Amino acid sequence: MEEATDLLIIGAGPYGLAMAAYARRLGIDHVVLGKPMDFWKVNMPAGMYLRTGSDVQIDPLGIHTIEKFLEIQGLSPTGVEPLSLQFYLSYAQWFQEQKQIDAVPVLVQRLDCADGEDGRFRASTENGQTISAQHVVIAVGFKYFRHLPLDLVERLPAGRYAHTCDLVDLRHLQGKRCLIVGGRQSAFEWTALLNDAGCAAVHVSHRHDSPVFNRPDHSWIAPMADAIVGDRRQSMRFMMRCRCGWTTAGRSPLTPSSWQPDIACRSTKSRSWRGGIS
Ligand SMILES: Cc1cc2nc3c(=O)[nH]c(=O)nc-3n(C[C@H](O)[C@H](O)[C@H](O)COP(=O)(O)OP(=O)(O)OC[C@H]3O[C@@H](n4cnc5c(N)ncnc54)[C@H](O)[C@@H]3O)c2cc1C
Repeated sequence: MEEATDLLIIGAGPYGLAMAAYARRLGIDHVVLGKPMDFWKVNMPAGMYLRTGSDVQIDPLGIHTIEKFLEIQGLSPTGVEPLSLQFYLSYAQWFQEQKQIDAVPVLVQRLDCADGEDGRFRASTENGQTISAQHVVIAVGFKYFRHLPLDLVERLPAGRYAHTCDLVDLRHLQGKRCLIVGGRQSAFEWTALLNDAGCAAVHVSHRHDSPVFNRPDHSWIAPMADAIVGDRRQSMRFMMRCRCGWTTAGRSPLTPSSWQPDIACRSTKSRSWRGGIS
């Protein structure tokens, strides 16, 4: 039997969880599909530290903040910053518990918007379940958007290169010489981690000046979000993009009113893909 909900939230990273918390607060019937904090658990290296501090927010209600999480443990921001990946994952787990968010840990394989009067969305999951929803929020993060420039990888021997998303266990690089292409946060984070892992040498190559890593300033986000909400044309453009369907590769729209995430995330080229999870 097909399950039905008013709001389907696809993705259980920080944004999917935040959206679920807000929906719950507003009394909106909703379902969350996605493996909680999966990108952080699977695609980030264990020794990583966050660039953002304790003031970063995922609770739209401002109640279950990192500061609150610290306070109940008798800790202070200065005692835990820079925040470790493990710390952030334990905060997200606590947040999920406080907000009583039950995320179903499955991936959506396909999302269709039915023609006709009801205009409902239908999501098919990897385990063959179908969920019908009046509204959908896609919060699948940017894992699908990772990019390996073709003209670069064509020159590299197969099996000898990786995107940072896929290189989280660094132990096998002990004693090896590594070249990092790129020069922003991930590049320098991985340089430090590769050095810690015992690489013989790590070279970082980039075309701009070495960045200065100041504490991130998020003050521009709220005004931008307000402006988007206030500008109906902007919001409509966004809605149209969602309703007309796009792939999570972000490049090729599929048939109108369908969306097929490349769950396998196998190549960086645009594609029409369906089925098979590897
Ligand atoms: C190395 C690195 C360091 C970073 N450091 C910071 C930092 O210090 N501070 C900061 O704020 N941000 C940082 N970020 C950015 C941060 O990862 C993203 O901003 C954040 O994860 C986005 O959250 P999200 O909920 O949109 O997506 P994600 O966290 O990517 O979560 C995506 C969710 O969608 C689910 N999902 C994916 N596909 C499907 C599908 N087909 N069906 C169902 N569910 C699906 C996943 O299981 C997961 O639950 C960093 C990123 C990287 C790569």
